[in-house]
Amino acid sequence: MIRSTTAGMAPSSTLTSSQEALDRACESLVCGDSSTMRVLPYHLPLVADRGEGSRLWDVDGNEFIDLNMAYGPLILGHCPPQVIESVLRQMSEHGSQLGFPTEVSTRVAEKIKMLYPSIDLLRFTSTGTEATTGAVRLARTVTGKPKMIQFEGHYHGSSDTVFNRYHAPLSDLPAKGYGPAIPGTSGINGAPHEVYVVRWNDIDAFLACLEELGDSVAGCIMEPVAGNTGVIPPKPGFLHQLREITLDHDMLMIFDEIITSSRVAPGGAQEYYDVQPDISVVGKAIGGGYPLGCVGASKEIMEVVRDGTLFQGGVYSGNAVVMAAAEAVLDVILAEKEDMYSHLHAVGDQLADGVREIFSRNGIPHVVQNVGPMVSMFLTKEDREGLYEYRDLRKYCDFDKYIAFQHALQRAGIYFHPNQFEPLFLSRAHSRADIDTVLERIDAEVPCCFNKN
Ligand code: PMP
Repeated sequence: MIRSTTAGMAPSSTLTSSQEALDRACESLVCGDSSTMRVLPYHLPLVADRGEGSRLWDVDGNEFIDLNMAYGPLILGHCPPQVIESVLRQMSEHGSQLGFPTEVSTRVAEKIKMLYPSIDLLRFTSTGTEATTGAVRLARTVTGKPKMIQFEGHYHGSSDTVFNRYHAPLSDLPAKGYGPAIPGTSGINGAPHEVYVVRWNDIDAFLACLEELGDSVAGCIMEPVAGNTGVIPPKPGFLHQLREITLDHDMLMIFDEIITSSRVAPGGAQEYYDVQPDISVVGKAIGGGYPLGCVGASKEIMEVVRDGTLFQGGVYSGNAVVMAAAEAVLDVILAEKEDMYSHLHAVGDQLADGVREIFSRNGIPHVVQNVGPMVSMFLTKEDREGLYEYRDLRKYCDFDKYIAFQHALQRAGIYFHPNQFEPLFLSRAHSRADIDTVLERIDAEVPCCFNKN
């Protein structure tokens, strides 16, 4: 049960224990945690103690309405009882890691297939990175072609196969709207190799790139709703156009639905936009907070994995605890599809509309974009109708203003990520009353935050 019903204001002085805990962590963990995005230099310290439903508590007992939901996976909220029961049953009655085929992994695969008709056969992974890497290798193996196209601002994990510098400075991006990938990190010897990156939502740039590359392109991989550069939905018809072009060019279309799967619709963006990719990568929400990725496709495409041409596997892939968690999440989704997704879209729209109204009333330049429970409230340097690609964010967004805004809200008991490249994520546990509270707090903080007294 939630111990306190209102997310308490977190006075800045009470963040001290988080700072102490973080200082201690920094002695053993680089920057105090295991992922750079969680400990950026401009993060206000928050060391988490526990979560329940839509709430999160830090080590001082400060309560936050959580609008980050662990970067998306917690579609049922923190600590959903169905998932806990399923995991405990699996661990106590069957074991956590068996090292053999299990019935629970078969059932999870069958349930994923019910929601994703584009998938006949699949393999589980433990991370999104493994699944996207597998998907790209699959496309190259099946087509026998070397090159791959990605889109600016899209992130597909940190492997050498796919890690493009997705938040590159504008000055590093090619004027013509497409060009070779830029290595995402040091130490990868110039990889990703044979990867080209094209502006999102720009069909002309995509066609020009294809023309230049000729018949050497195995496929293109995309986040069907861009979610690593804030929320940037595809323009109407864009995914359908890509589908047609990829079919015409004998190349495969890969949807990286790590964020969008069972988030924007039960069957992900492919259901929401009614476009069937050749290869699907799903994860995050389906695992409900347990490390799950999955790469799936038709029987014909998966034949190269079945016959052993393409290696796909890992010790923890299909881990039984993860499978038990995923089964519980999928059971809820399958049983409550209609209600659950109309609720997720209703609270997402409520938040987006409410924030738009507050910013407009206070004369604060902004663009708010959402696809259901994926929401971005971009603070811009000037009013704009929309942001349609990564370069728009770099040109028009005010990142410092957003950090100041986030700090004020964190102190007021509302958590979302301080970098506006990260969307806000809502869950089935977020009520309309939660969103009312979020909007009240934003309304209260806006005047002092933006000197609008
Ligand atoms: N693809 C997308 C769209 C993602 O958002 C992420 C992670 N945020 C990944 C792939 C990589 O997933 P992981 O961190 O589990 O490797």
